[in-house]
Amino acid sequence: MKNFRTSIIYLLIIIIMMLLVVLKRVDDRNTELEETIDFLRKRNSEIPIPAPIIPKNKIKESSEVIEGVIGIIIDDFGYRNDEISDGFLNLDAKLTYAIIPGHTYSNLFGKKAVEFGFEVIVHMPLENTGKTFGEEDFVLLTSMNDNVIIERLNKALDQIPMAIGMNNHQGSKASADSKVVKNIANVMKGKKLFFIDSRTTAESIIESTMVSLGVPTARRNVFLDNEDDEEKIKAQLMELAQKASELGSAIGIGHVKKKTLVVLKKYIPELQEKGFKFEFVSKMLR
Ligand SMILES: [Zn+2]
Repeated sequence: MKNFRTSIIYLLIIIIMMLLVVLKRVDDRNTELEETIDFLRKRNSEIPIPAPIIPKNKIKESSEVIEGVIGIIIDDFGYRNDEISDGFLNLDAKLTYAIIPGHTYSNLFGKKAVEFGFEVIVHMPLENTGKTFGEEDFVLLTSMNDNVIIERLNKALDQIPMAIGMNNHQGSKASADSKVVKNIANVMKGKKLFFIDSRTTAESIIESTMVSLGVPTARRNVFLDNEDDEEKIKAQLMELAQKASELGSAIGIGHVKKKTLVVLKKYIPELQEKGFKFEFVSKMLR
């Protein structure tokens, strides 16, 4: 009898121990589950909530409403072949690059620009009313005869053969001189090129001469970087956009400078988003 009781007690103890082990396991699993749920909750809270899709008023389709067409010419390429000039090759817009003949990288940059999908024109040096610096082999002076002027224009175009047009570098004196401007117009006409008046003087007769001789032309509306200051360049770019909005299209001129590059890189996408279209100046001629 005593033996039987002892066996029962042992059996009970064994049953209780087994129960304890089972309970402990259930408890462990519960903690694991809680930890998993906690982890998932945290992960979910880190997943960014997608922004609501806002329908655009100005959808870029064939029937798109365009705020205005902006043409930008960047002047003075040819001097440099560095991270600044290459930086302009990475801008994502139809821009026109004006190269001064006679410099170390004039031809090389022309090739690069075309390769990257940009439009190239010759940036022809013209005589200033004050001192005219540099480009002695190319600058067009009012004292020169027709042959010299024509020869220089042809030499510049030979050096930058990918150019499909021209604009003037400086030229506050020569762009008001009918002999110089008529010679330019004749060469442009013969080679089926266009000429954009940079308008370095209010006295310029370039645009009217081109029109009267049947050469496709246009004029600069806004200079972007007369002052080398990012805020001011941005303000000029916005003025250009405003002009494009008012007139339908407008042309701005900037230079191969770091701050100009920084501003264009930042605000071209913003203007495109607002409905402005960037276009090659060759598509904005009259
Ligand atoms: Zn220039």
